[in-house]
Amino acid sequence: MDLFEYQGKQYFARYGIPISAGEVADTVEEAVAAAERVGYPVVVKAQVQVGGRGKAGGVKLAADRGEVELHAGNILGLDIKGHVVRRLWIEHATDIEQEYYASFTLDRAAKLHLAMVSARGGIDIEQVAEEDPGAIARRHVNPLDGLARDDARALAEEAGLDPRALDGAADVLVNLYRCYVEGDADLVEINPLVLTPDGRVHALDAKVTLDDDAAFRHPEWAELDAGGETDAREAMAKQRGLNYIGLDGTVGIIANGAGLAMSTVDVVNQVGGSPANFLDIGGGANADVMASALEVINSDQKVRAILVNIFGGIVRCDEVARGILTALDRVEISSPIVLRLDGTNAGEAREIIAGRASDQVISEATMLSAARRAVELAAAREGHAGDGPANGANGARA
Ligand code: GDP
Ligand code: MN
Repeated sequence: MDLFEYQGKQYFARYGIPISAGEVADTVEEAVAAAERVGYPVVVKAQVQVGGRGKAGGVKLAADRGEVELHAGNILGLDIKGHVVRRLWIEHATDIEQEYYASFTLDRAAKLHLAMVSARGGIDIEQVAEEDPGAIARRHVNPLDGLARDDARALAEEAGLDPRALDGAADVLVNLYRCYVEGDADLVEINPLVLTPDGRVHALDAKVTLDDDAAFRHPEWAELDAGGETDAREAMAKQRGLNYIGLDGTVGIIANGAGLAMSTVDVVNQVGGSPANFLDIGGGANADVMASALEVINSDQKVRAILVNIFGGIVRCDEVARGILTALDRVEISSPIVLRLDGTNAGEAREIIAGRASDQVISEATMLSAARRAVELAAAREGHAGDGPANGANGARA
């Protein structure tokens, strides 16, 4: 889960990382009221989960009420790389002497945490990495050892930070590391981390990605999520306890087991189709789970065919077949369903499906033939207008 800047800053503040006083605002009036409380000059900042807001006109200094009105009015509703601004963060402006970069992330290859610090902050770090890789100081941190303050200070020194910034930067790094580890983040990034003329080191931006697999340890994350930009399909799937990842294609996929689900995505691609999602209904794929899975996929306006690929081991195929029929009774499924069932009780399952007089469910014997069939159906249905509710309302066709 990615946090907005204002959420990331609130998160940093809990770990003692210095940030500016600020407030969120959803309207021009709220922005003005926030600025009056925060004190001028302020920075008016677009809250979207994408970098480069400054360049796109989403970060503006405002010296008085009139300027806040002007900038808030312009930034609200602004489209920044496809993200429409609905919320602002108004914070007290900081005098900047230098802009730095600091982050922690996981280096999976090294199986260690990775700290990165640079004296070239305020700009895109990928650009720095390309143009001047030596300008980024890197250090692996063993999770068993943690990050000592002396090491943090040495890293800041190696990165070429101003001598006046070293102590402040060391404190920020130690706290940022705690925030990253104890807070169960996958990434914490401050760009820019600034040195002020009076020698303070201060976070002016915040990028935080939380590790969703740690959510069970953090009931407080629920409220963060509410403010986040989540895919509507993913939110619906999560509510139903499904392991679902939305993709851009037209073939909806349901499989049991992450391995089989991934293989199914691959095979659909191989035969020239485009998967609409990854969905692993897991080991307990009973009728209810199957019905929920079909409902989530059915809510995706782009889906033109659904491929159900189940290998019955612990899961019994007859249960899966019943689930599909339950789903068909519960909601109107707009797309044809191609079914490949194999393993435990597969024969019984095929009888259950065949017993239902409907040409909406098509059985195929193998994974490959099923994928081909689903891709053909999706392609054919993409070319025709008005052949099902999914084609109606928004007409979003690839
Ligand atoms: P991003 O472009 O999405 O990364 O947004 P940032 O929050 O990093 O802001 C972009 C730039 O705006 C920063 O690199 C700063 O140069 C500038 N900026 C942000 N906050 C302040 C502030 O309080 N005072 C001043 N003078 N500049 C700021
Ligand atoms: Mn930034």
